[in-house]
Amino acid sequence: MENIFGLSVPEMENRCASLRIPAYRARQIAEWMYKKGADSFEAMTNLPKALRAFLPSVFSISWAECVQRWDSVDGCTSKFLLRFEDGVTVETVLMRQPYGNSVCVSTQAGCAMGCAFCASTLHGVTRDLTAGEMLAEVLFINEMLRGSDQRVDMLVLMGSGEPMMNYDNVLAFLRLIHADYCLNISYRNITLSTSGIIPGIERLKKEGLPVTLSISLHAANDVLRSELMPINRKYPLREVVAAGKEYGEYTKRRVTYEYILINGVNDSKKDAGNLANLLRGQLASVNLIPINPVRERNWERPPKDRINQFLSVLEEFHITATVRREMGADIQAACGQLRNQHLTESGCF
Ligand code: SAH
Repeated sequence: MENIFGLSVPEMENRCASLRIPAYRARQIAEWMYKKGADSFEAMTNLPKALRAFLPSVFSISWAECVQRWDSVDGCTSKFLLRFEDGVTVETVLMRQPYGNSVCVSTQAGCAMGCAFCASTLHGVTRDLTAGEMLAEVLFINEMLRGSDQRVDMLVLMGSGEPMMNYDNVLAFLRLIHADYCLNISYRNITLSTSGIIPGIERLKKEGLPVTLSISLHAANDVLRSELMPINRKYPLREVVAAGKEYGEYTKRRVTYEYILINGVNDSKKDAGNLANLLRGQLASVNLIPINPVRERNWERPPKDRINQFLSVLEEFHITATVRREMGADIQAACGQLRNQHLTESGCF
């Protein structure tokens, strides 16, 4: 039996055609699932009774099941561990911000990139998520918000996984979530973060979707970046930044560079100067992220004055930079931390 949760209307139309169901039913079914949150055909009251009775014999509608939930003390961040049909789990985070509700989406279960500071990659990648599974992450939260007359307004693809290593499914997901029969989220309210997979950046550039591209740099020289992010050996710093520059020029969208600050590792004045040099003349901004200490690694955040010193060097060079507002540190909201805890506690590792 096919799970149709995650099919686009054209895909659903194909299924309908082969079952001799009129094509316009496809949109009705999609709207029930994606706009109204229906998880059974019985609920789809504008379908004929006979069709409602027939559909469950050929199709299922499978979302995701929430197995654990954490709420930050301030109530702004909630983190969910969601389980899919095959038992694979991922983390999804809701951040309630003054300008709207933002969801941090995982694109893979685990991650293959091997970044030294990241909890998502500690056990490698389990598998890619399908477009429907990414959609299930968002719609699960949207349904929850519906109870208080709210909705998901923005997405960041900054959960576990490297979106560019699951490119086709990620793009199908973005098109789906943007569709008028789904949440109709504007591409401008979507940020895709990558560890710097150059072919992916080039492909995305040509899609013509005004999504915001965010590139994880975390170091301003190749030796350190290769240590922190092994993918740098394949796609070195200067080439990644050049691809980001091209992306910005082509799409006229400002590229964001993420830079984790790790005490005594990448946070000196010299590092800040090198970073400014790299980005000079580019339509870019820097997002400084004091590292979320991960239990499995022993790195710390720099003290405030060191963070400010880094920031003021960037400002001297007229590089737009912000320090990311910390959310959810008390609930281990750094990528992959929750899932690892679950896997460890359930004896999977
Ligand atoms: N694979 C993509 C997207 C997922 S990670 C990427 O690398 O961009 C989203 C961001 O969180 C990345 O910038 C990542 O480097 C960062 N991150 C990972 N572990 C972190 C930690 N312990 N503290 C702070 N940020 C972290």
